[in-house]
Amino acid sequence: MKQNVIKNVVTFILVFLLVSSFLSLFTIDKTRRQAIDVGTLVTEINDGKVESIEVAGDKLSVKLSDGTLQETQKEPTESLSTLLNNFSVSPDKLAEVKIDITNDTGLGFWMLTIAPIILPIIIIGFFIWMMMKQIQGANSKALMFGQSNAKQFQPQTKNRVTFSDVAGSHEAKIELSEIVEFLRKPQKFIELGAKIPKGVLLVGPPGTGKTLMARAVAGEAGVPFFHISGSEFVEMFVGVGASRVRDLFRKAKRQAPCIVFIDELDAVGRQRGAGLGGSHDEREQTLNQILVEMDGFDNQTNIIVVAATNRPDILDPALLRPGRFDRQVTLDLPDIREREEILKIHARNKPLAEGTDLKLVAQRTPGFSGADLANVLNEGAIMAGRDEQKIISQNCLFQAIEKVMLGPERRSSIMSEKEKKITAYHEAGHALVAHELPNADPVHKISIISRGRAGGYTLKLPTEDRKYHSRAEFLDDLAVMLAGHVAEKKIFNEVTTGASNDLKKATQLARQIVTQYGMSDELGPRTYGEHEELIFLGREIHERRDYSEKTAEAIDSTIMKLIRNALKTAEDIITRQRERLEKIAQTLLVKETLEKDEFEQLMATA
Ligand code: ADP
Ligand code: MG
Ligand code: ZN
Repeated sequence: MKQNVIKNVVTFILVFLLVSSFLSLFTIDKTRRQAIDVGTLVTEINDGKVESIEVAGDKLSVKLSDGTLQETQKEPTESLSTLLNNFSVSPDKLAEVKIDITNDTGLGFWMLTIAPIILPIIIIGFFIWMMMKQIQGANSKALMFGQSNAKQFQPQTKNRVTFSDVAGSHEAKIELSEIVEFLRKPQKFIELGAKIPKGVLLVGPPGTGKTLMARAVAGEAGVPFFHISGSEFVEMFVGVGASRVRDLFRKAKRQAPCIVFIDELDAVGRQRGAGLGGSHDEREQTLNQILVEMDGFDNQTNIIVVAATNRPDILDPALLRPGRFDRQVTLDLPDIREREEILKIHARNKPLAEGTDLKLVAQRTPGFSGADLANVLNEGAIMAGRDEQKIISQNCLFQAIEKVMLGPERRSSIMSEKEKKITAYHEAGHALVAHELPNADPVHKISIISRGRAGGYTLKLPTEDRKYHSRAEFLDDLAVMLAGHVAEKKIFNEVTTGASNDLKKATQLARQIVTQYGMSDELGPRTYGEHEELIFLGREIHERRDYSEKTAEAIDSTIMKLIRNALKTAEDIITRQRERLEKIAQTLLVKETLEKDEFEQLMATA
């Protein structure tokens, strides 16, 4: 703020200097003219020295034949010819002089006379006005501090979102159409004595369309929509959040019926008393204010608060009780059918090549969220554009999937021959073991071109979307994860850091098998440890032990046993089928990538 004022003052001074020097140019021009009196002029004319005279009002600008400029004045009431007559200038001498009479009473004349006086005044006035405005702005911004900066969308805007823009999520849509009904015809429900719900909580992993869905509800109901993110309430200063909440609801009440959408509710709605860092008091106050406001609606206040979070488990229980966010709508990751629908929605404005099948894209994208899928189509379009194509081909989309999944290809990253060979055998190991084990997902693609941080990759895709996983699947997965490491060791009698990520993932999975899924025989069907998280990092970094030291040891040894068994499985396969491994690796070294068909053909012949 202060800097702005200084900046303004500096510009002001600069412009002032510029203008004044510009004006002084004129005056310099004037002073260069030599002032003479009328008598001298007459003598000069009589001597034949004068080339021209320019008459502007009372001012006479004289130019002599040797180029000298002079000026003089006449009486305003007298014309030049009478003046010269009175001074008895010889007419034939006068005829040699060119006389220019410029319009002396015209607008231009007045402008010229007045401008040098008025212009600076206008400019100074303008700057003073600017500065005043800025200072006022500063003041009002300070006052705005406690106001919410919610974005407001009016119902009839051009880019109105409706349910047809949200693919899948049929259950959520059904639940939410009720809300739409409430907003459209509240009387119908009030007459039946029903309480209009005050809050709806949209729950789901990131990118599943929670924000989109909330906007669609507003679009369907045709009511104004206030959008604010939970984090926007929180400032360094205690009390600001609460006052923003008050302000938001005050604005909303004026526009009722309407929807207030609080995105990322977990930013303010975490369990109270669990705060770390300086702002927890503030968050509690903000949260309390939200609760107070929601309790304050009577049946006539037609405001529905929609909130979204991907962490319902950490919300304060007070938020979830009836009368507040008592309705929860879950948005899940889309299944294959929904994925195709989402892709169709986002392909609406994109020219797809003839015969492009979005179903195939949906098949290859299990676990992708709506946002990921939107990203796939976007990346596909970018890729097509980069190749100077006018339409997006199926192949572009497949490449886009891999890019979204694993990061961009790094063809330029140079691998030495030796590294390339190691990578080839490593990936061949993954692929071979995945192919051999009945419960592992089939191999979709193998590549030794680096992508993101991986040196190479073996893409496995489940044949169908699965909600549940069995122990047998997990054990096979473990073996596949470790197979890269095993292959390296077998062939080169050496292990590299290339397998470290595999080992990490395998260890994590083994731990989960034991402590979360209760799938080990030794430790039985129970969970071990409670996962808590530290608020400000938002990650599971803290695990509370609910078991003894002895159990901890047992867990460790069970994890180790699972890993050893998986290693053995992988080793057996790789030793038994060494030729096949060689064959895959050699083909990879030549072709760099193997698609599913090529790989399967290779396995059938080898
Ligand atoms: P969230 O708020 O759950 O993190 P968003 O609503 O911001 O996710 O979704 C991000 C983007 O993903 C949306 O703008 C939309 O383009 C796309 N998207 C997500 N889910 C869907 C869906 N079901 N249908 C269509 N597009 C979706
Ligand atoms: Mg969101
Ligand atoms: Zn690997």
